[in-house]
Amino acid sequence: MKVKIAIVGGGLSGGLAALALKNEGMNSFVLIESASSFGGDHTWSFMDSDIPDSIASWMKPLVSFHWNSHQVNFPKFQRDLDLGYNTLRSKSLHKALLRSLDNNQFRLGKTPEIHKNQLRLDEEIIDFDILIDARGTGPNSLGPCGYQNFLGQDIHFDRPHGLKQPILMDATVEQKDGYRFIYTLPLDDHTLLIEDTRYSHSSFMDLNDYRDSIKCYAKKFGSTFKMEREEKAGLALPLTEQMFQHPGEFNHHITIGLKGGLFQPISGYSIPQAMLFAQLLSKSAHLKSTSLIDTLQHYKNSFKKQCRFFWTLNRMLFGAALPKERYIVFQHFYGLPIDTIMRFYRGELLTKDKVRILTGKPPVSIASAIKSLTTSHWMRPTKSQDMTL
Ligand SMILES: Cc1cc2nc3c(=O)[nH]c(=O)nc-3n(C[C@H](O)[C@H](O)[C@H](O)COP(=O)(O)OP(=O)(O)OC[C@H]3O[C@@H](n4cnc5c(N)ncnc54)[C@H](O)[C@@H]3O)c2cc1C
Repeated sequence: MKVKIAIVGGGLSGGLAALALKNEGMNSFVLIESASSFGGDHTWSFMDSDIPDSIASWMKPLVSFHWNSHQVNFPKFQRDLDLGYNTLRSKSLHKALLRSLDNNQFRLGKTPEIHKNQLRLDEEIIDFDILIDARGTGPNSLGPCGYQNFLGQDIHFDRPHGLKQPILMDATVEQKDGYRFIYTLPLDDHTLLIEDTRYSHSSFMDLNDYRDSIKCYAKKFGSTFKMEREEKAGLALPLTEQMFQHPGEFNHHITIGLKGGLFQPISGYSIPQAMLFAQLLSKSAHLKSTSLIDTLQHYKNSFKKQCRFFWTLNRMLFGAALPKERYIVFQHFYGLPIDTIMRFYRGELLTKDKVRILTGKPPVSIASAIKSLTTSHWMRPTKSQDMTL
């Protein structure tokens, strides 16, 4: 079999790339996933403002939940944001792929060997012009990083919980393991997804502590409930551009998704970049292979330029701010105008946004800020930082 585009990894980024190609009427591709279903078991979310209307038209059917607004809670204020929020679950991506793709356009439960222009599966060889590597990643391949660790549970209450809109950050909870907040989505009248999230120096998670804190938080919404589902992750948040260095990437091979560094380096959200990449791929798929790769690389390079500011902020957050005072950085950010918040999540900040984010009194001494920016100090947490974790 011969295809123009081979996508290896049927998670978020690979799955959306395949859907966009199909949606555009481009049929010379194959999607290979090593697991028995596409997408794993995740809850992915994005703001209405993260994507243009042209993408919304093919993404909307995938969305499992939509809310017209959301809120954030900090020690100094609570804020309602008039900005729509969307969530999709892996099952929805899996079903959409099975519904849309022809049988010869995907393989499940296959881990191919990748050779120059060839995928070798058990009893099959697939030749391709372009390889899209969407295999996700482990934290170590991203270089120096901080971590966004979280554990989420779907909690079913015996009575309506009363929450009408998502609480994206409730940072009024005790600050521990770095910046900590609780993220709550009302999935239906009786069910909440409650997630305990911590911005830490290490990926270590005391799971019992996370579970106890979710149970305690759930009591705010009702006294009788049961846990129905659990997901957890330690997302590596990069501090430098090392995440973009892929020695295996050559002229007909491009790496996307988490592995390719196509995600917002502070929030860890990768769905907007996965959708934008998928859209670009599908609209450019008619190009000759060399021009197509150039176009896709150009997109990655532009995104990389945008990321420089976020990496710097991450270095200040993880290298200079004391763990228990990190919440002040986010509290300041959520006091900014809504257009700056929207551009932050999209990863498309303007100069005026950067100025807004950096002004104010940071919870950081000037000396430690400079150190964190100019040296590799932040790669080796000091004893005092270790002790506060
Ligand atoms: C629990 C959780 C919640 C998250 N929530 C959000 C969120 O709300 N919003 C957001 O934008 N981001 C979120 N993220 C971050 C990010 O969106 C996800 O990690 C996302 O799944 C990354 O997409 P990806 O395509 O790079 O990798 P993945 O979705 O992990 O996909 C990689 C796929 O490649 C497959 N694979 C690996 N090796 C091979 C191989 N050799 N051959 C074939 N297949 C292979 C894997 O089985 C997997 O299906 C979340 C992450 C987690 C873990």
